[in-house]
Amino acid sequence: EMSMEKPHVAFLSSPGMGHITPLFELAKRLVLHHGFQVSFLVITTEASAAQTEFFVSSTNDFPPDLHIINIPPVDMSPILTPDMFVLTTLCLIVQESLKPLKNIILELPNRPKALVIDIFCTQAIDVCRDLDIGVYSFFTASTLLLAFSLYLPTLDREMEGEYVDLPEPIQVPGCSPIRTQDLLDMVKNRKIDEYYWYFLHVSRLCSVSGIFANTWDDFEPKSLKALRENEFYRSIQTPPVYPIGPLIKQEEVVTKQDAQILAWLDDQPLNSVLFIAFGSGGTVTSEQLIELAYGIEMSKQKFIWVVRKPSDASASASFFSSGSEENDPSIYLPKGFFERTQKQGILVSSWAAQVAILGHKSTGAFLSHCGWNSSLESMVHGLPMIAWPLYAEQRQNATMLAEEFGLALKPEVVNGKNVIGRKEIENVIRLIIESDEGVKLREMARAMMESSKKALSDGGSSFNALNTMVNMWKTHE
Ligand code: UDP
Repeated sequence: EMSMEKPHVAFLSSPGMGHITPLFELAKRLVLHHGFQVSFLVITTEASAAQTEFFVSSTNDFPPDLHIINIPPVDMSPILTPDMFVLTTLCLIVQESLKPLKNIILELPNRPKALVIDIFCTQAIDVCRDLDIGVYSFFTASTLLLAFSLYLPTLDREMEGEYVDLPEPIQVPGCSPIRTQDLLDMVKNRKIDEYYWYFLHVSRLCSVSGIFANTWDDFEPKSLKALRENEFYRSIQTPPVYPIGPLIKQEEVVTKQDAQILAWLDDQPLNSVLFIAFGSGGTVTSEQLIELAYGIEMSKQKFIWVVRKPSDASASASFFSSGSEENDPSIYLPKGFFERTQKQGILVSSWAAQVAILGHKSTGAFLSHCGWNSSLESMVHGLPMIAWPLYAEQRQNATMLAEEFGLALKPEVVNGKNVIGRKEIENVIRLIIESDEGVKLREMARAMMESSKKALSDGGSSFNALNTMVNMWKTHE
């Protein structure tokens, strides 16, 4: 039976900014460029509100065919404890929230052709199998991590002991070796529940109908080639991988404070300002924060710094703690920092309109925790990075950006200490903003920017990869 209705696809993401954002960008693209209707399911539990409130407030005027469907909140208080790992908390929230998923899908105005999920929502696979709906995974981190994740069940089967104790880097089939110290946090200890959850979800990757990757052919050629051609991935029946990126946040809430920052940027010289931010959850220790502050000040370079309360317990301490929480930098920054740097830069408490700042012509480099979205946002704007990885797979991203691609500088810990010292920080900031090496890095980043534009434009590799999927969904009955 012919239907004149627009094709309908549903989306579902775990409650993390870094996952919701790219899934939502894909959803918007399907609606705005390809004539789809989309139901975007959102987990609304109080326990993860810190990760979803920005999304909710930024989507006041979404296109008419993009429907936000709130999954009823669940009371997580009997299940969660404050000492749980971020990933455990996140996965338990997802598990509880998705219990009514089947009915939520059945109650949609019409049956979706497909459900696009992020990596931590694989409970949806069984539900959709029962309903005969194809499931697609959107892998929101690097393709190197995707390849590692596809390899993990094999590694788990074949290896005893801890991966971090291996004498050699891990050779993911066809990809660049991953140094054990760069391994993602979730696989550093196989006995804890974080590993259990990560393993559980990635081991289901091969039961989806296709995998979207937020990357593009010329950005991660080696890993993409491996997934296409290496026998290993075929042997485990890897579904087709569609590199459709870079999909980055297009619209942002620009607060009054952000508007002031952008106005300040207007008055600064071209490429002169360093933007400093650690993603949606990154936090440094109190000792490291002091060093960073002095390093910034000593560099005498212009800066915009999103500061958060330090934590000595966890590098992702702010992940689930609300941005509105009290944050008074004068308590933890060096005495007089604020006064001494008034002309040099701006401190922003907890959150800034990152994409708008990166897109400003006065911004010249980005000191970042190297979350995948932040890395892509930096590339899309042609900005070299100072790589400051904190948690999850960020060390791996940092190594790739700095050592493999030549797009970032990585400050090093010296003298066996566990903090990066102020002098080292001063040096890398000067290098990236005012040296010839910085100019070279910026040229490399500019080339990446051009290459990303090409990939997304008519006939480009990411454009074509998305079209392939779109056409399949359009013709599939
Ligand atoms: N972000 C922002 N303002 C901030 C900090 C972060 O808008 O002050 C956004 C940033 O633009 C990016 C996302 O939060 O889209 C962070 O995602 P990423 O993958 O870089 O890191 P994660 O938060 O997942 O660690």
